[in-house]
Amino acid sequence: MKRVFNFSAGPSMLPESVLKKAADEMLSYGTSGQSVMEMSHRSKDFEAIIADAESLVRKNMNIPENYHVLFLQGGASLMFHMLPLNFMTINKKADFTYTGAWAVKAVEEAAKLGKANIVGSSKDKKWSYLPEIVGADAEADYFHITYNNTIEGTQYHTIPNVGKVPLIADISSGVLSEDLDVSKFAVLYAGAQKNLAPAGVTLVIIRKDMMDRIPEGLPAMLSFKTHVENKSMFNTPPCYSIYILKLVQEWIQDQGGPVALYKANAEKARILYEFLDNSKFFYSPVEKSVRSLMNVPFLTREADVEKSEAINKKFVKETEAIGLVNLAGHRSVGGMRASIYNAMPLEGVKALVDFMKKFEAANA
Ligand code: PMP
Repeated sequence: MKRVFNFSAGPSMLPESVLKKAADEMLSYGTSGQSVMEMSHRSKDFEAIIADAESLVRKNMNIPENYHVLFLQGGASLMFHMLPLNFMTINKKADFTYTGAWAVKAVEEAAKLGKANIVGSSKDKKWSYLPEIVGADAEADYFHITYNNTIEGTQYHTIPNVGKVPLIADISSGVLSEDLDVSKFAVLYAGAQKNLAPAGVTLVIIRKDMMDRIPEGLPAMLSFKTHVENKSMFNTPPCYSIYILKLVQEWIQDQGGPVALYKANAEKARILYEFLDNSKFFYSPVEKSVRSLMNVPFLTREADVEKSEAINKKFVKETEAIGLVNLAGHRSVGGMRASIYNAMPLEGVKALVDFMKKFEAANA
């Protein structure tokens, strides 16, 4: 069976060599005679897997010694609650940029536990740009950004300067797609299902001084202290996802690390945006300076809503027929979206652009 180019926003493509290695090791991991899926999380083999996963993430992301690295569950969505619960604990207020659907969710959850201040919003123009920061509070317990807005297709290309206030970023859809300076952040977090592994594990990176803010008496599973003290093994971790995450880290090293991945990602994005900017039929609704290298929403210029929806449907149907799948846009944005994470090969993007040219000629 020929594999497709999967443009899904997540879960999304994994490197083929990783899937092959996992297949080779499916029935017996090393000499263990069992699959990682079946293995005790307290076994020597799994302890080595999780230790390697951590040390490879540390190496690939160049994470300084004064940070904890955790593999948790509950997705980025649980972090929307755990972050304020653990860290919005001094002045009980935090600042947020309001840049899309996931930022909205982060704000909604934080507002249940304290004051969530919006200090810049791009809602007025359908989230198509990144707002200037206005009225940031020097007394805020932290400042939260959504580094890459998966649905709307914007991305911070420079890290906002928030002074002494700890900066927290949701890097779910950008993690390890570039050489990010971890030392600029107090906390980073990412659901795995885009650039790291299958769904089920959440990578959380916490600067050690932040641990002092965590109140006593939190439910054990909701306290980062529990997970740090137990090295992500307070309860049964998502073992198989962590194992694949480890294989993906090895693949990242083989590619030349995040610097090389960034180069490849920038080239894929350049090809797609260049086509969109020159097309008379399709266009990108996102302001040029903040376009995401990972998620590329695009629309057609057809103004009539019904006709436009019919064209979108036709586009999605025809691309699926040639093995370019999951190109329908998010329901809140409409149109189409191509998610081109680390594991999307250059050939996938080239095949998409080739098809778009043909589709434009046939339908314009
Ligand atoms: N934040 C961002 C930026 C996302 O893209 C997503 C998922 N698409 C989430 C948070 C939610 O992640 P999860 O489904 O892992 O809870």
